[in-house]
Amino acid sequence: MSEDTIFGKIIRREIPADIVYEDDLCLAFRDVAPQAPVHILVIPKQPIANLLEATAEHQALLGHLLLTVKAIAAQEGLTEGYRTVINTGPAGGQTVYHLHIHLLGGRSLAWPPG
Ligand code: 5GP
Repeated sequence: MSEDTIFGKIIRREIPADIVYEDDLCLAFRDVAPQAPVHILVIPKQPIANLLEATAEHQALLGHLLLTVKAIAAQEGLTEGYRTVINTGPAGGQTVYHLHIHLLGGRSLAWPPG
């Protein structure tokens, strides 16, 4: 159950996190193992494991998450651009099964990823 992930504990303030934004629908905090000068995770408060679990009922929420990423990128001064990543399932490299969007920026990022 994604309620029981480490991100569920962060939402419930059971463990600390460097929170940069919060509203009724989502929370954003700095990744504990940053892969770029700015590395923030934007998550829904609703416990959706990943995109495989997302349905049409989540459409507005998913849009809200993306627009929140955009607002946080502006807040962080990422005027030259940034990368957003959603890892899905084992083949996608997902390690925490609570949907999250990685926001990476502050350095030039290569493509393709590993
Ligand atoms: P995934 O591999 O599932 O796409 O990404 C999970 C991310 O969560 C990783 O980048 C990892 O560093 C981050 N992470 C894991 N545990 C914690 C934690 O307790 N606090 C924070 N802030 N980030 C975490």
